[in-house]
Amino acid sequence: MLNFFNLFQPDWKSVSIAFLSAKFMFESYLKLRQHNILSRTVAPSSSNEELDQESFEKRQEYSRVKSKYKLIADTLKYFRDLFIIQSNLNSIIWTVSGGILTNSNFLPQTELSQSLIFCTVSKILLFTWKLPFDLYYNFVIEEEFNFNKSTVPDLLISSFIQEFVQWVIDLTIISSFIKLIQYFGRIPIFHLTAVVWLVFTMGFAIYPRIILPLLLKVNPLPEGELRSKIEKLAEDKSFRLNKISAIDGSSSTAHTNALAAGSPWSGTIAIYDNFSDHLSIDEVVSVAAHELGHLKLFHLEQQSIYLSIIVGSKLLFISKFIENKSLYEQFGLPGGTTPFLIGYLIAQDIYIPLEVLGTFIDNYLKRKIETDADYYSAIDCGFKETTASALSKHLKMNLSTVSSDWLYSLYFETHPSAITRLEALNVAIRKHS
Ligand SMILES: [Zn+2]
Repeated sequence: MLNFFNLFQPDWKSVSIAFLSAKFMFESYLKLRQHNILSRTVAPSSSNEELDQESFEKRQEYSRVKSKYKLIADTLKYFRDLFIIQSNLNSIIWTVSGGILTNSNFLPQTELSQSLIFCTVSKILLFTWKLPFDLYYNFVIEEEFNFNKSTVPDLLISSFIQEFVQWVIDLTIISSFIKLIQYFGRIPIFHLTAVVWLVFTMGFAIYPRIILPLLLKVNPLPEGELRSKIEKLAEDKSFRLNKISAIDGSSSTAHTNALAAGSPWSGTIAIYDNFSDHLSIDEVVSVAAHELGHLKLFHLEQQSIYLSIIVGSKLLFISKFIENKSLYEQFGLPGGTTPFLIGYLIAQDIYIPLEVLGTFIDNYLKRKIETDADYYSAIDCGFKETTASALSKHLKMNLSTVSSDWLYSLYFETHPSAITRLEALNVAIRKHS
């Protein structure tokens, strides 16, 4: 492949632009299909939630407003990405980072230092791009539907913390990648994949303990019926509960959520406090059982293995392109310089067709994980009625999309739509009763 590309020296820029545009058109087509479903005014007959007309219309409207926002935001992002390719922006930032490095006297003059400066400058630019969208989403869309409970300073602080954590992770990965490449004298795909797996696995382990408390107020779940029922559930399933937390979700959002972290044998469960405002104690316990299901069924492990396979195959693909000198020249890098980070970013656009395929697989697995965790709560833990009623209330409270276009769902949705999820659950319940 490499020799072929070197011989013909394709116009990589045109290839990148063609892939980027094809992906944009494909995604816009899917969004239009979904928009048709969201414009329906009559609830689907297969709906087995008690869905009154008013609630159906409100959910359709919320989904439509979000979908319109996404269409506009993604269109602007497409033009931004076109501009990045056309103007050789990454190479310009690379050269600027080189200038900053030359003028600094505390960093060694190496590719690694320049890459870290590049990563920081890019992060600041991306953050500046993203912030107005986040503000609009939270203070206009979420506000309109009474979901937003946070203030501008709160949002700024939590966005800043999230970006900072991501920046630390990025720097760790980039430093290990460049060091390993220099050590081996080539791209050691296996080692680089192992680094990503390690960072991902560690991230899962430290997220509820270190990162989550930085973003939200997390307290131990107070003693009482709910706590003892969750403890009993863990005991029945031979699961050592290190911690049960109540997340103060109510001061930032009206959305409800829950999460679990750890291994299939021990870990932490965290539940948003606003669940208790709408769900009965037994229903909240079935939410905890769903989260426990994610751990008991090795979902976190499956996710990190899958992510490693994706990263590994991406690196394999990219390693074929990165050695291609013409690639760097076409994207405006001065002759002879071939920094790994820039090559990686350029090759990402050429990887788009495979990335689209990966999105289908990734979302399929994510949706499967959700339905499996619902089954775990309903069948394995025996909470048939409460799992279904908790799910139904949760979907209603969050104004979740009632039903989706099948192709849109396959590509875009990490969670099955409300009807699909409840139907799947009811089928499982009927089979086991
Ligand atoms: Zn889940």
